[in-house]
Amino acid sequence: METAAMLRHISSTSVVSSSILFRSSQGLLSRSSIFTLPKLHRLIPNPSKQSQLSLLRRHLRPISTLPHSFPIKRSLSPQAVATQPSHTSSDVETQDDVAEKLGFEKVSEQFIKECMASAVLYKHKKTGAQVMSVSNDDENKVFGIVFRTPPKDSTGIPHILEHSVLCGSRKYPLKEPFVELLKGSLHTFLNAFTYPDRTCYPVASTNTKDFYNLVDVYLDAVFFPKCVEDIQIFQQEGWHYELNDPSEDITYKGVVFNEMKGVYSQPDNLLGRTTQQALFPDNTYGVDSGGDPKAIPKLTFEEFKDFHQMFYHPSNARIWFYGDDDPKERLRLLSEYLGMFEGSSASNKSKVAPQKLFSVPVKIVEKYPAGDGGDLKKQHMVCLNWLLSDKTLDLETELSLGFLDHLLLGTPASPLRKILLESGLGEAIVGGGVEDELLQPQFSIGLKGVAEEDIQKVEELVMSTLKKLAEEGFDSNAVEASMNTIEFSLRENNTGSFPRGLSFMLRSMGKWIYDMDPFEPLKYETPLIKLKARIAEEGPKAVFSPLIEQHILNNPHRVTVEMQPDLQKASYDEATEKEILAKVKSSMTEEDLTALTNATQELRLKQETPDPPEALRSVPCLSLHDIPKKPIHVPTEIANIDGVKILQHDLFTNDIVYTEVVFDMSLLKQELLPLVPLFCQSLLEMGTKDMDFVLLNQLIGRKTGGISIYPFTSSVRGKKEPCSCIVVRGKAMGERAGDLFNLINCVLQEVQLTDQQRFKQFVSQSKAKMENRLRGSGHGIAAARMDAKLNIAGWTAEQMGGISYLEFLRALEEKVDQDWDGIASSLEEIRKSLFSRKQCLINVTSDGKHLTNSEKYVRTFLELLPDLTCGEANNWDFELSTKNEAITIPTQVNYVGKAANIYETGYQLKGSAYVISRYISNTWLWDRVRVSGGAYGGFCDFDTHSGVFSFLSYRDPNLLKTLDVYDGTGDFLRGLEMDNDTLTKAIIGTIGDVDAYQLPDAKGYSSLLRYLLGVTEEERERRREEILSTSVKDFKEFADAMEHVKEKGVVVAVASPEDVNSAGEDRRCYFQVKKAL
Ligand SMILES: [Zn+2]
Repeated sequence: METAAMLRHISSTSVVSSSILFRSSQGLLSRSSIFTLPKLHRLIPNPSKQSQLSLLRRHLRPISTLPHSFPIKRSLSPQAVATQPSHTSSDVETQDDVAEKLGFEKVSEQFIKECMASAVLYKHKKTGAQVMSVSNDDENKVFGIVFRTPPKDSTGIPHILEHSVLCGSRKYPLKEPFVELLKGSLHTFLNAFTYPDRTCYPVASTNTKDFYNLVDVYLDAVFFPKCVEDIQIFQQEGWHYELNDPSEDITYKGVVFNEMKGVYSQPDNLLGRTTQQALFPDNTYGVDSGGDPKAIPKLTFEEFKDFHQMFYHPSNARIWFYGDDDPKERLRLLSEYLGMFEGSSASNKSKVAPQKLFSVPVKIVEKYPAGDGGDLKKQHMVCLNWLLSDKTLDLETELSLGFLDHLLLGTPASPLRKILLESGLGEAIVGGGVEDELLQPQFSIGLKGVAEEDIQKVEELVMSTLKKLAEEGFDSNAVEASMNTIEFSLRENNTGSFPRGLSFMLRSMGKWIYDMDPFEPLKYETPLIKLKARIAEEGPKAVFSPLIEQHILNNPHRVTVEMQPDLQKASYDEATEKEILAKVKSSMTEEDLTALTNATQELRLKQETPDPPEALRSVPCLSLHDIPKKPIHVPTEIANIDGVKILQHDLFTNDIVYTEVVFDMSLLKQELLPLVPLFCQSLLEMGTKDMDFVLLNQLIGRKTGGISIYPFTSSVRGKKEPCSCIVVRGKAMGERAGDLFNLINCVLQEVQLTDQQRFKQFVSQSKAKMENRLRGSGHGIAAARMDAKLNIAGWTAEQMGGISYLEFLRALEEKVDQDWDGIASSLEEIRKSLFSRKQCLINVTSDGKHLTNSEKYVRTFLELLPDLTCGEANNWDFELSTKNEAITIPTQVNYVGKAANIYETGYQLKGSAYVISRYISNTWLWDRVRVSGGAYGGFCDFDTHSGVFSFLSYRDPNLLKTLDVYDGTGDFLRGLEMDNDTLTKAIIGTIGDVDAYQLPDAKGYSSLLRYLLGVTEEERERRREEILSTSVKDFKEFADAMEHVKEKGVVVAVASPEDVNSAGEDRRCYFQVKKAL
């Protein structure tokens, strides 16, 4: 419950920052590298839909020296969910006997030290299916089945299939078994991904019974889906013509169709796609597996069925099991399915052919949809890309390339990144560095926000910098810092919200999928030691210079992609689509049109008819007895040093000390708030009197696991004043705890906030990031904006991360040149009003020995802090108009939000609210906004601290229609008929969220946030009881709160100007319009 709310705050950032995780998706080092792949498609917008929502809400992206994800993690520590005892009856039989009997042949067995696991590779004799069975004591069990699915064109078949197979199957004949699992299982991971050449279905759970339920639903889905018989599923998930009335215009609908329209509205995504296709013109990577909205409507149902028949076959499957369950049980479960098939030639047909290297470099120019805000001439993007090799590389070379990538781009102090940003030629970096998730590795780097006449200069700068680095080598401090960062990260193995077993699976799959050794990518320790020794013996230059020369400088397979802003592109694409559809309509007879209208209605009727109870019952579900009655306990001791509270959490952290130093922000002047994020970045990226920022960054990299600084703001229930603070997070090995606190002190007190040029870069980078966020996460911007209209915390956060912040940055860009002294003194003023002992609170998470040991460093740290007496707390007022607002951007899909504070109605928080809002998301909104509305996502969020209940949609083709769905929520609840099974499912799913798996650092952090927001253990226990005893009556009563949102709610939409105009014709003066891009 509270945990869930906390998680919403935190987990959002983990997604964001995981994309800079080791920067590259270097097979070995990438753990959630899937977030870096621009071409990868997830079935649902985010593993946790709610975390999407708070992306901007009141928690800004931490500004960080960390090259990898830091915030929320899921953990290996004991969780309160009881796992089922494993089968004991078969223990007399050895695993080998069982495997043999079930038709599996053991190919290889190895102990993998890096995952403390024994791993066995099997081959299913009859079909050739390959199975990797990894056993260790990790209770967060993972299963995944992966098919090679190389597409021939850009109609998006693999992506549409990925969505469709989860819409009902032989054993589970309901509309969406996947959604039933989302609603009612304890999954720690549930999603599906489409890569350019494979489709991946992973699940995870800590509860064994739950785990096998998930596995069975997924296996039945991939092998026996209804979608190959039922064209309506293909239409719903892929594309179809929609015609509500013969007199209206025909439109395209389909979940994937709209998802991809959203993708194609984002310049960064377009760049990624163009790059991949240009680098690999001759093989399957030359087309878009996700689907080009222009090509998707060319796909036929026949082609779709054939593709499934061909590639979703055991002969073409790689299957992964991981965790502490019984390995024999895994094989039993599998043999049931695999045994029903004969061998096929699929795995030959699905092989990915390598791309041959070019003999001369290539240049590509493309257009992207731009808005007319700002100077178009300065909005070009340019990116240099290399295909690094015509064959796959050995692990040691890959590892060296990953290392090189970190050296070049891993931190703000890395030379290539630094030089590009300092050149003033562009606003922000594009290109992901080394990328090796596909058959052949590539390297990409460039800039966006580039003036037309500077494009050539960017190219020259990249080339000359690489040349210089090859000639001169890297600074030894930089090499040491990268080495420490990489080793720290491997030791910590902090996979964020990703189950560890899944990150191992993706790592292994990176080779296995190409018929190479699946064990090898897991065994990184030896090659790392070798590499370290080589660097020590031969020097870094001997190791890295040849790599740069051979794979980059002297490699003719270089593609330079230039993206030009095009004002007309969005409306032109829109018009082209309308034209095609008009032609389609004019070619239809009256009977055709009637038939299409009927088909539209039939599809909608089917989508809106609930599954019969017996079908719903087919999806296995846990019972309430499987659920622990108490919330997860995090040990917390509160000590006091000189009046400063020290929260200590004694948890096993593998000798790592995690700390958060928190400073109350309430003394800050209101007008300084928007400067806070840049202030945080300046602390980490400006340098002191004795050390420039490069040295400081290297020092942090050499001594610690990283430091990040960011503002945190939230409402506190029952209080008018928000909780608003600056959080400094850091981590280091236990023996380096002294260094960690020293460095935090140095960053807070000694960094000189005087570097005008660097500050100017921060402003442009932040502006570019905000603009990108507006296109890619418009729902987050809408949510932040609604919050800003409804409470002070929301207003505060929006000043530091919403549209207001973007407007501030745009004005600031000018001001940096005109009044730098003024800005510098404001930065200094922020420092003075924040960092004092009186406003400080410290949180430490580690085991007992290190907790005790770090006390002396904490003491010294506190002694060095100024003992400022508190002045008077500033009363920030908030004054955003509560009028409905439409924020326009050039896009083909919208983000639509509506919200109100339901505490205003006198509603008293009860645990049932968590169950109900989750149910509304997974049922009413999923069905109406996504399934029949055609949006990629629709969900609601209840912030229990502020009382704000918000509805949001994601990549939505509709606007007013979606608002009508939101307004219908009250009636939906009142008319709800709910049997016991459904209710139990809803409760269990909620507990699954509340008990979300966390690594120790995340546990300590959640506990800190609970402390800050005044959430007690008693309250947590009470809420849990309320969740467990939620009744249908609670649902009905909640309808009144929903009525309040309908009547009094404020609307914010981030949408295309065309849709806002036509909404304005329907409802006059409904929106205040603000053009943002
Ligand atoms: Zn998708």
